[in-house]
Amino acid sequence: MLQMLRTMVGKPKSYSLYPGTVPVIIVIVVFFSYGFLSHFLGSPGPSETSVVTAGERDAREVVTLSRMIYTQPKVLTPARSDVLILTPWLAPIVWEGTFNIDILNEQFRLRNTTIGLTVFAIKKYVVFLKLFLQTAEQHFMVGHRVNYYVFTDRPADVPQVPLGAGRRLAVLTVRNYTRWQDVSMHRMEMISRFSEQRFQHEVDYLVCADVDMKFRDHVGVEILSELFGTLHPGFYRRNREAFTYERRPQSQAFIPMDEGDFYYMGAFFGGSVMEVYHLTKSCHEAMVVDQGNGIEAVWHDESHLNKYLLYHKPTKVLSPEYMWDQQLLGWPSVMKKLRFVAVPKNHQAIRN
Ligand code: UDP
Ligand code: MN
Repeated sequence: MLQMLRTMVGKPKSYSLYPGTVPVIIVIVVFFSYGFLSHFLGSPGPSETSVVTAGERDAREVVTLSRMIYTQPKVLTPARSDVLILTPWLAPIVWEGTFNIDILNEQFRLRNTTIGLTVFAIKKYVVFLKLFLQTAEQHFMVGHRVNYYVFTDRPADVPQVPLGAGRRLAVLTVRNYTRWQDVSMHRMEMISRFSEQRFQHEVDYLVCADVDMKFRDHVGVEILSELFGTLHPGFYRRNREAFTYERRPQSQAFIPMDEGDFYYMGAFFGGSVMEVYHLTKSCHEAMVVDQGNGIEAVWHDESHLNKYLLYHKPTKVLSPEYMWDQQLLGWPSVMKKLRFVAVPKNHQAIRN
């Protein structure tokens, strides 16, 4: 095998150029390089709207890292030996100690990546916005371009939070629903609609978060990938039979007992705009079908998210460092950092 590789790489093919073929080759080269150059020279800048989505543009770009000094990765020394860091479909599971943020920051900066953070603050939930945004300014994607998208029915109650350079906030006024379950579920519909109309023209990646949360440590580009979900902090130690998937076959979110990889949390997921569009559209449509059949999945949008991620495997999985509840779960030693944590709330009071 090695010999074969050496032969393939090492042995240059010899071409003989007959005088008559030279002009033909020149014409071909000029023709193709014109197409190649005009593609780049003529392509619109990042501020202009382009048919190609930002995510697609990313994948094609070639970036060259600068010289960097860092600890060498050691093939015989696992980054973490106490936790699973790779799914069976070879998606990284992101834990502290598994990534070098300097390398990742450089890669994403060279692509001038823009990240959209969607958050819903409907009715009384506007009270969570201030802490959410203030802590996001301290910990979320620092050094990168960030667009906050605040969906609310109370635009006047969105607090003025000073934003760092390259960071913007858009208030998107949307309707409310009486039932909190409907507020939660209709996030899928609104994210899919705005992805199509707006987000695909403005950002490369979308991160979709609950608002009753705060950032308390670094959450950066290590989470970014085509499609990512987050391990629910209450279930990461459990067997699949214990997952609170929807178990009624009548629901579109149904998952049988002998299936399931992880239990993902509905409060933090994302990916490229295109992947998030597909996910949110699919979940919304599944919820519409359920509604027509007079059934509502046990954990609402989270049940549908889990069904989607079972059959559309995420390309990255975030550890519970990215979704924690210290009041409920304390601080076990496996969690080296608590990055994004629940803000205690009185459910009854805030939802009604
Ligand atoms: N939400 C909202 N207003 C409501 C109910 C829910 O804005 O009246 C949004 C908000 O972003 C919230 C999310 O829907 O974080 C999910 O609801 P909640 O956080 O109450 O669910 P839990 O995390 O308690 O399961
Ligand atoms: Mn929540």
